[in-house]
Amino acid sequence: MTDTVTVRVPAKVNVQLAVGGLRPDGFHGLANVFLAVGLHDEVTASPADVLRIGATGPDAHQVPLDDTNLAARAARALAAHHGLDAPAVHLGLRKDIPVAGGMAGGSADAAGALVACDALWGTRTPRGELLALCAELGSDVPFSLLGGAALGRGRGELLTPLAVGGTFHWVFAVADGGLSTPEVYRECDRLREASGTGATVAAVPEPEPSPALLDALRDGDAAALAASLAGPDGASSNDLQPAALSLRPALADTLKAGTSAGALAGLVSGSGPTCAFLTESAESAASVAESLLASGTCRTARPTTAPAPGATLLS
Ligand code: ATP
Repeated sequence: MTDTVTVRVPAKVNVQLAVGGLRPDGFHGLANVFLAVGLHDEVTASPADVLRIGATGPDAHQVPLDDTNLAARAARALAAHHGLDAPAVHLGLRKDIPVAGGMAGGSADAAGALVACDALWGTRTPRGELLALCAELGSDVPFSLLGGAALGRGRGELLTPLAVGGTFHWVFAVADGGLSTPEVYRECDRLREASGTGATVAAVPEPEPSPALLDALRDGDAAALAASLAGPDGASSNDLQPAALSLRPALADTLKAGTSAGALAGLVSGSGPTCAFLTESAESAASVAESLLASGTCRTARPTTAPAPGATLLS
């Protein structure tokens, strides 16, 4: 038993998010190519009399501090898994991942809380069991544990790790305010219905990963990856992008500002509203970030690299 444990967890960008039709269970089948990026939350677990949560960081006021917090749910799930009484732990969340930004911040905190509580309680949960607990907590949580890059099938939780042959330089343009992921999926269904193709599994082709995109990741080839992320006609490897743009039309200005500033490609990150820009170098990322900030089309612009490791015990 230790006194305090801190775990660092990465944000993600979906370099491809192919969304299948609406299934009878209310979910969508996905081909989801996750890439962990160097924006992080830190989860610190320390002993307490009851389960308590605290959050710090620019978006901390948007983080629920009750039982609905994904980190709290993770601590409860781990305690139940080991037949422990109610989890007596204080979870301190240092949030640097935008909240409701399409970068899986809540999922990252859940994975971080699992690893932190496991170390604090000395429960030594095997990796496979931790991954199964992650999948129960949410579709994006297993990837937050794993990090690197991975293909997610099913709801995104059935992961195959992917090789990445180099470092990619990104800029993330963080918007004011978030978007609700379920609302963005509903808008995606609505747009599909309105276009006449229909939104159900019968109407929408089975989502498949793009071979060219997987090759570009494997080769560490930023120009080839950029060609797979975005097309000249506004096409995107993210099937949720039209829905995010429909709900937040101003994101089109952010995407334009980033690509005009020299990014190789820009796309909405997951369900948005964060926009992700792939650049050719660290220097280019710094200059694109500066231009994005000056454009006034985002709250902040964060240059970083990928891939990043998954949940990592710091102390
Ligand atoms: P995803 O990309 O996985 O769809 P997201 O990055 O868009 O998610 P999150 O930051 O995970 O969004 O937050 C979504 C909602 O989840 C928030 O609005 C908040 O109410 C709730 N939430 C629960 N736990 C957390 C947490 N630990 N951190 C942030 N939000 C949380």
